[in-house]
Amino acid sequence: MRAFQCRGCGTVVFVPEEAPDPLWCPLCRLGLVEVHLEPPPNLKQWHCPECGADFWMQPNEAPYKCAYCNYTFPSTERRLFEEKL
Ligand SMILES: [Zn+2]
Ligand SMILES: [Zn+2]
Repeated sequence: MRAFQCRGCGTVVFVPEEAPDPLWCPLCRLGLVEVHLEPPPNLKQWHCPECGADFWMQPNEAPYKCAYCNYTFPSTERRLFEEKL
């Protein structure tokens, strides 16, 4: 797995080795930089129903947008809290 960290909020997104680079942060939509990080064992998988991409994030984080396309994930309680940013 490869890890990408957001230039803005520091969120880390994990994608499979063979997957293309994610385009932007699922939380704030800023650009991502590839980082060398061992994936934690309890990552949570997210699947985008729009473009079919799979990506992984920390279990306490929920994406706002897909890391690859413009799909918006349904709101969660966690998301409402994040809207205060
Ligand atoms: Zn971000
Ligand atoms: Zn997508």
